[in-house]
Amino acid sequence: MSDFFNTPIKFLKGVGETKAKMLEKELEISTFRDLLYYFPFRHVDKSRFYKISELSGEMPFVQIAGRFVNFSIEGEGAKRRLHGIFSDGERLMECVWFSGIDRMKSAFQIGVDYVIFGKPVAYRSIYSISHPEVSVYDPSKPPVGFMGVYTVTETMRRRGYSSRLISTIVRNLLDNPRLAELPSLLPEEVKREYNLISLKEALIQMHTPTDAESLQKARERLKFEELFYLQMHILRFSRERGRKIRGLVFPIIGKYFNDYFYNCIPFNLTGAQKRVLKEIRNDMRTGRQMNRLLQGDVGSGKTMVGFMSMLMAIDNGYQGALMAPTEILATQHYETISEWGKQIGLRVELLTGSVRTKKRREIDDGLRNGDIHILVGTHALIEDNVVFKNLGLVVIDEQHRFGVAQRAKMWKKASIPPHVLVMTATPIPRTLAMTVYGDLDVSVIDELPPGRKPIETILRYDENRYEVNRLIQRELTAGRQIYIVYPLIQENEKLELKSVEEGVERIRGLFPDVEVCMVHGKMKPDEKECQMEKFVSGQARILVATTVIEVGVNVPNASVMVIENAERFGLSQLHQLRGRVGRGSDKSYCVLMTKMKIGADTKKRLTIMTETTDGFLISEADMKLRGPGDMEGTQQSGLAFALKIANLTSDGQILNIARDAAERILNAHPELVAGQPTQYDKKGEELHLSTESVAIILRELAYRFARKIDWSQIS
Ligand code: ADP
Ligand code: MG
Repeated sequence: MSDFFNTPIKFLKGVGETKAKMLEKELEISTFRDLLYYFPFRHVDKSRFYKISELSGEMPFVQIAGRFVNFSIEGEGAKRRLHGIFSDGERLMECVWFSGIDRMKSAFQIGVDYVIFGKPVAYRSIYSISHPEVSVYDPSKPPVGFMGVYTVTETMRRRGYSSRLISTIVRNLLDNPRLAELPSLLPEEVKREYNLISLKEALIQMHTPTDAESLQKARERLKFEELFYLQMHILRFSRERGRKIRGLVFPIIGKYFNDYFYNCIPFNLTGAQKRVLKEIRNDMRTGRQMNRLLQGDVGSGKTMVGFMSMLMAIDNGYQGALMAPTEILATQHYETISEWGKQIGLRVELLTGSVRTKKRREIDDGLRNGDIHILVGTHALIEDNVVFKNLGLVVIDEQHRFGVAQRAKMWKKASIPPHVLVMTATPIPRTLAMTVYGDLDVSVIDELPPGRKPIETILRYDENRYEVNRLIQRELTAGRQIYIVYPLIQENEKLELKSVEEGVERIRGLFPDVEVCMVHGKMKPDEKECQMEKFVSGQARILVATTVIEVGVNVPNASVMVIENAERFGLSQLHQLRGRVGRGSDKSYCVLMTKMKIGADTKKRLTIMTETTDGFLISEADMKLRGPGDMEGTQQSGLAFALKIANLTSDGQILNIARDAAERILNAHPELVAGQPTQYDKKGEELHLSTESVAIILRELAYRFARKIDWSQIS
């Protein structure tokens, strides 16, 4: 690699030993390359005034000259905000203030020439800047320029260094004539094919942009580079795995599947269920081990897909297993599946920690001699002493409770590992799933069975309790059951217990005629099961619980879900909880309870819940609000750290293109993947590279992933 690129930072004009030490310690900048890749966290364009008609998708902070034409105060309470309509003489845009409303309103006048400065975003059909800087227009003021603003640490600040230090030394570096020696980090063929600017140009524009459009191009190029290497890295691993791990081949669809499908199935499969079954069928006949993630909103009918996939295994002479995270869930699945299986003469058994010796011996025998077609269970199912005759497919329900280690344990059970289908109702946007789960293929059931009654979601404050209690009473009188959920309070378990226990007392007082049961995190498993069982059987009509009920219990008779301190839950969690109701034929309700005083953001978040029941929309909104770093799976993957400029939430399009590029290159260059190529290496379009370009890729992968995050192990 170029010496220039790797020159220690202390040799840069304006740095020296002391600053070099500080840069290294505080910002991990030790070479010229590190500095060039230390990007501004935002850009400020005060080089000129923009017209509203020039605003576009991703803008830096810009200034616009014009006048306010109207002010209005909208909303109430936490939602109260000031809207100012701003005109540049041609078009209108909007300024919004959520705080300091009255002060702002009296500070600005209609008809005076102002300059507003901030980051415009497209909101509905109009551009909007929230909390802009507003100053009186002064034509004698010289333009300030277009520049990057850099993050510096608190320690640096204390020593008197700011963003300006980085600005200055970056400029010194960009002025260096040896910048021409910058190596190419992307192959020429890729740059040409995907129309990308040179690295040198991109870095210059990123740090010292000339205009918004060039900056945008520079960003795209750098994001592409980052995502391209990320995808390359992930895909190499997954292809390598495909080469090393053979899979069972299930060539036929036979009598069990057909008998069930044509004679027994109690409803018509939805289009999405059919499509996913086809995807699974295709996987299981290739000779590669299937490793598929099935995402489907709560109630979308994943169980039937899991069951029918197992029928494919059974038709080919193999056994199926279904693993659930809790005993209650395993029992429910067992009841459903043995009911379905009975009709076509299958033997289905349940294995949990509480199965006693005699029954256990029966199950062991049945598994070994192949009498048992399907085994349903908790993780007792993957203990070493459970031996199958020939396990062909493992279906795992609610993936996030099972780690990779547990999945790997399943695979060890046979010389050729069984296929694995992981079902989850935690929807993750596809682009993110692709990246986070690396080698898992993703299927999506994006359609609910017809005839579902909608769940009405309402946001209520403590002050409205009376009304909520009336709703509960009405539903109880109609024979329904009620969930009341309290948040887990991890930092203070005593407090958690107190809130649940007080909740139970209060509820018992309010509804003395019905039995109330209680489940919380501190209970022993036996006791928990016993309480849950009371609710599942209908003996108890109200269940007060912390989030233990989050995963999958099915009580179709329950019609109300009250969530206390709803603001403490993430949106995806709320969505999961809400999915516990609306399973019967009656209208259901989800009540989000909060205290009166909640912030505008919280309110906005909770309002999303009242507006949609689409799990994917909710998950996307959740991700936008919290960032992908908080999403399930991303944390342990270190993904959040790996990315400097690209954003998995908003750069889905570039991510797709980068993935396409990586796929095409791997198709053309199987030598980039370890192991012997097989007939199962994916085939598709190819993008051929010169030997030199292949070398660039290998060098760059080694540089970027020296820390070696093992993406293939993430799930
Ligand atoms: P989830 O995807 O949340 O696991 P389930 O598999 O529990 O959902 O299905 C929810 C309910 O919908 C079950 O009662 C199931 O029998 C029913 N169901 C599944 N598929 C269909 C369908 N195509 N048409 C009608 N009902 C269906
Ligand atoms: Mg389910």
